[in-house]
Amino acid sequence: MHQGPEPPPGRPKAASAPSGGSEPRAAGSVGVTYIGRFAPSPTGPLHAGSLVAALASWLDARAAGGRWLVRIEDADTERCLPGLGEHILGQLAACGLIPDEAPVWQSDRSALYEAGLKRLVAAGLAYPCGCTRREIDAALAARGVAHERHGERVYPGTCRDGLHGKPARAWRFGTWKFERKVAPVPAPLAQAAIKTIADEVHWTDRRIGPQRQSVASEVGDFVLRRADGPWAYQLAVVVDDAVQGITDVVRGQDLADNTPRQILLQRALGFRAPRYLHTPLVMGADGQKLSKQNGAAALATDTPGEALAALQAAASALELPPSTASTPHEALAQWVAPWAALYNPRP
Ligand SMILES: [Zn+2]
Repeated sequence: MHQGPEPPPGRPKAASAPSGGSEPRAAGSVGVTYIGRFAPSPTGPLHAGSLVAALASWLDARAAGGRWLVRIEDADTERCLPGLGEHILGQLAACGLIPDEAPVWQSDRSALYEAGLKRLVAAGLAYPCGCTRREIDAALAARGVAHERHGERVYPGTCRDGLHGKPARAWRFGTWKFERKVAPVPAPLAQAAIKTIADEVHWTDRRIGPQRQSVASEVGDFVLRRADGPWAYQLAVVVDDAVQGITDVVRGQDLADNTPRQILLQRALGFRAPRYLHTPLVMGADGQKLSKQNGAAALATDTPGEALAALQAAASALELPPSTASTPHEALAQWVAPWAALYNPRP
């Protein structure tokens, strides 16, 4: 593992990224039993909600004596804005949140995702789909299923037996096939109290407790890659977490319902499942969760005072005590023990 001095924020050349191996690494093999990560998408600057997840993942790594990595999730390049990854790294650094290795960028790593997709195709667990969104809605309507505006659009399985002459528009995960063919999780893989039974994924989150989802009936055969190129979030995250040896995923609760899809992909690819902790969401004045989509204000982190105030607000969302520190660095150090007491009872 990389043992050099702290890397400066900013973008390393792909070839020099120390975590860019092609095979999943086992955390234990390098004497580190905890590797955590913060994985922002550069579709907007850090806002109050994303800093909560960043602070939580940093504190969890420090409380466990582990390592903390940052991954810029810019696989969907169309939605990402130039320069924002660097800007986010600068905001994190201003808050004292410095990764232990040079950050990795998903846009440098498509060969890894390609290899993952190839393995799923070879196992018969991924197939091409030629449906447009309109065709999917029409197929669902023909079955009497109305697509609710904010609901999940459950893929009706139209292309499972072939494209019928249509061009491929996406690669999908064969959820139904996985659930029929792949055995339940063997005990050594069940790191996060995960078990897959019949058609339902059961897993236990370190903060929100036992969760369950039937991926086949609630989500369907989800997209792994779109035909216009971008990798879907689910596949990229699962491959990256495995390659980087991530043992603990700490992220916002808005991503909790993605977890069962990621657990299925981990199982299908033979990866170890990390533990999961989903942090509370920060609500805006309108009662909706803060997000870039609803125009959450970018965090002011230009001065140490501003960065400290932003951290204090994030800590409060995590129910940590107010800090008496005068710098971000001191405040972070003060919160490690309270974090451990609140969230770190080891499973
Ligand atoms: Zn289709």
